[in-house]
This record gives sequence, C-alpha cells and structure tokens, in this order.
Amino acid sequence: MIYDLHSHSNASDGSLEPDALLALAGECGVDALAITDHDTLAAFDRIDTSVSPVRLIAGIEFSTTWRKYGVHIVGLNVDPACPVLRGGAERQQQSRHLRARLIARRLRSKGLPDVLDDVLQIAGGEPIGRPHFAEHLVRAGIVKDVRAAFRKYLGAGKAGDVRNGWASLPEVVRWIVCSGGTAVLAHPARYRLTKTKLRALATDFRTAGGAAIEVVCGQQSLNTTTHLARLANELGLAASCGSDFHHDSNCWSRPGRFPSLPLDVKPVWTTWQTCSR
Ligand code: AMP
Ligand code: MN
Ligand code: MN
Ligand code: MN
Repeated sequence: MIYDLHSHSNASDGSLEPDALLALAGECGVDALAITDHDTLAAFDRIDTSVSPVRLIAGIEFSTTWRKYGVHIVGLNVDPACPVLRGGAERQQQSRHLRARLIARRLRSKGLPDVLDDVLQIAGGEPIGRPHFAEHLVRAGIVKDVRAAFRKYLGAGKAGDVRNGWASLPEVVRWIVCSGGTAVLAHPARYRLTKTKLRALATDFRTAGGAAIEVVCGQQSLNTTTHLARLANELGLAASCGSDFHHDSNCWSRPGRFPSLPLDVKPVWTTWQTCSR
C-alpha cells in the first residue's frame, strides 16, 4: 500500500481540481491519498469518490505559530462536516484576509504598487496566501518567477513573511482531534530549527494532543529521515509521509513520490481502525 498523506488541490494553492488530483494519484500508483488543503475543507464538498480507484482520506493543513516560528499542522482522517473543525477553518480564512492586507501594506513599504485587489482576484474564494501574491508579482512582471517572488518578497524573513494572527498550536490540534482526526506535525525539517528546538516543538505538540510527525515529506535526505524517525520513536509519536504535492508542472514532485518510511517507525495508518470515511 502506498499512502500519500499530504497534498493540495485547487481548493487552496494546488493547481488540480480534487477529482483530477485523485486521478493523478491513481496514475502514480498511490493507494490512499489525503487531500490536505491550507485552512479549508472545500475539496470534500465537490469531490466525487465513486469513480476513483484511490482511497480518499479527508485532511486539512492548518497554519499556526509556535514561539516565533510559522508551523503547519496536518489533520488526517478528519470529519469534514464537524462544526468545530469547520469553524476553525473559517476563522483561519478570516485571519488570512487580514494577513493579506498586512502583506500588501508591507510590500508597498518596499516600493511595490498596491497589489491587494489583484491578489484577492487571483485567490477568488480560496484561502488567500503568499502563493497568490507570488502569482500576481509574476503576472505583473515584477519578478521573473514564483521562486524569485519568495526569494525577494515573500519567503522567510522578507517583507511578506507575516506569521502572526493564526490560531495557537493547541487550538488547531484540538479542532482536529475534536473531529475524530489525527494531528500530524507537518514537514518538521522545513522550519530550520536546531535539534533542541525541534524536540521542544514536537514535545509541545505531543502535549497538545498531537499523535504523529511527518518523518518523510517530499524529497529529503536520508539524514533528515533518520533524524525524524528517531525523534518520533523517542517521543512515542507515529510517523506520517506525504508528497506535499501542489502542481503537476515538475516531474520530481508527484503524488506518491518520496522516500519510504524507515522500517522501525509506527506508520500513522496503523493507528487507525478505518482509513476513510
Ligand atoms: P502561506 O500559506 O501564505 O503561508 O504560504 C505558504 C505556501 O507558499 C506553502 O504552502 C507553499 O505552497 C508556498 N511556498 C512557500 N515557500 C515557497 C517557495 N520558496 N517557493 C514557492 N512556493 C513556496
Ligand atoms: Mn502550499
Ligand atoms: Mn506546509
Ligand atoms: Mn502542504
């Protein structure tokens, strides 16, 4: 069984319709796919699983802050109809709106024109995020590509890197657990924390009710995988894995394309009695 437990559709910042994402996952040999859009469950309102060979796992990826760091928490096997979870997602989307205004203001202070209206238009009804700003900056010819947009304006430490306003880590874990889901610390290696800080984050996460960490997320070094597997085992956390797939534009990022979990971890799906709703 190949489980890909982290992916994005165009309900957030991915490019594919949920149905098309599921179909692509099937073509890539994935048996079970979690769609985990940023702060929204909208994919599950419009997906038709009746024709899919791939098992769909309902998920979500919440943004939060831990100390001064922006940290993402994935919820797996959630109930998309749960009012607490839906309420949480709505609150996060409101925060995204306020944050978008702040990002636009901060970009203006860097000498850029006011981009807010254009960015809101690109986002449509989706939870607005930095990828929408990046797309606009490319379209407007201000930067040459999305990478440059993040490097110059939106990435870590740049003007558009606004991390406040999110719900707290214990809160988002509570929403996930309340809906019957499993809370997973997403891509722990991406926060560039020291080993000591990462352990403190994982420990706080566990205390809040978190159950697993992503031991594998997309392409990563064997060293990283080994370190994360050890951390999971030492803290008694299960292990998750996923591609964090967003776009079908490059061939190295595909559903199901990531190194296997080490044999000595406890895969998160073995903690579930049923894997899908
Ligand atoms: P936000 O949800 O607004 O914080 O934006 C974070 C999203 O931006 C991530 O989920 C990625 O999809 C995307 N992202 C972050 N860093 C980069 C980067 N350097 N290049 C392209 N996309 C990025
Ligand atoms: Mn994203
Ligand atoms: Mn993420
Ligand atoms: Mn993601």
